[in-house]
Amino acid sequence: MTHSRRAFIQKLSAGAGGILLSGQLKSQVKEDRKLGVALVGLGNYSTNQLAPALLQSNLCRLAGIVTGTPEKAEKWCKQYNIPKENAYNYQNFDEIRNNPAIDIVYVVLPNAMHAEFTIRAANAGKHVICEKPMALNVKEGEAMIKACQTAKVHLSIGYRLYFEPHHLEMRRLGMEKVYGGVKMIESSLGFQMADPQSWRLNKALGGGGAVMDLGVYCIQGIRRTLGELPTALTAQGYVRDEAIFKGIYEMMMFQMEFPSGAISNSTTTYTSYIDRLYATTGYRWFGLEPSYNATGAKGNSSAGELTFKTPLFQQIAQMDNFADCILKNQKSVAAGEEGLIDLKIIEAIKRAADTGKKVKLSW
Ligand code: NAD
Repeated sequence: MTHSRRAFIQKLSAGAGGILLSGQLKSQVKEDRKLGVALVGLGNYSTNQLAPALLQSNLCRLAGIVTGTPEKAEKWCKQYNIPKENAYNYQNFDEIRNNPAIDIVYVVLPNAMHAEFTIRAANAGKHVICEKPMALNVKEGEAMIKACQTAKVHLSIGYRLYFEPHHLEMRRLGMEKVYGGVKMIESSLGFQMADPQSWRLNKALGGGGAVMDLGVYCIQGIRRTLGELPTALTAQGYVRDEAIFKGIYEMMMFQMEFPSGAISNSTTTYTSYIDRLYATTGYRWFGLEPSYNATGAKGNSSAGELTFKTPLFQQIAQMDNFADCILKNQKSVAAGEEGLIDLKIIEAIKRAADTGKKVKLSW
């Protein structure tokens, strides 16, 4: 980032009292003053969510792309007015270090490639947003955090729901015990996998089926609502179609115990649709259904509806918050350490399912 651009945005950010709500500053920040984001991997999520969200971001703009497909590079450069010199492939990606137009690298690749590209981006001196799950395992997650610390760049995980009003309300109701202390919480996510060739079903690329892909949401819904980390868990894995689910579970259920005494129950699955978060305190309850999808949550409670107006793209607030953190040199609430917590829990869930034993967790 050039000095003048950083100074300009810093001034603006301070003037807004640090609160950068979507739409609030849109007219004030000129395109060439925003932080430049390069999307790495131009699949579904980049195409249908992140690129359109970047068009509406207050502090970020789509400044570059990294893709293995030259035809895609050409199409995106035209569509988003990206200069050709800001289009990279996976081989020449490291040259991004010499490009001052790129401030943030956003890794949107299959899970097995998250660690490599986050570390390469950090080594190139760029701040990083990495999609969920952060990595395949705790060891990779720790290496990513270390690489970003060494390079003195910020790292955040693509946890859009940390900024979504329904989820913030679930957190408030749970942590402030508005309906009393939560005793039981259910949190599940599943869909029917349409493409049997998807990298999500490849153990090496996806990291282990539905729990890697969808478990993060379930775990976060629970731990963010409770404001606690689990101390023990049990898990069960099921495979019905062995021709498609090779070496991975198609469905996983897991139960977690929390210091307050709350117990959670979750299902992650690639066979059926489910998308809900439900907390009960005894007679009273509050929840979201749908909860986790990117197209909007709906809330309800024993005291009535929980309804919030939300922008079309949840990622606008997520990316603006990260840009704000970079400008103020503050840690993001969705920093790499949050991703690491979820990886620790996922590893424990896999261990519990494989062994059939309760796994204890210490923090
Ligand atoms: P996708 O399959 O649609 O896109 C993946 C991209 O990676 C494609 O452009 C593909 O060409 C590229 N790629 C490079 N090397 C590849 C390889 N060896 N095999 C397969 N593809 C390769 O996937 P997606 O749905 O865009 O997911 C990408 C990442 O984003 C995943 O980590 C996923 O978990 C995450 N995601 C997050 C959310 C969210 O709400 N935060 C939503 C969807 C996806």
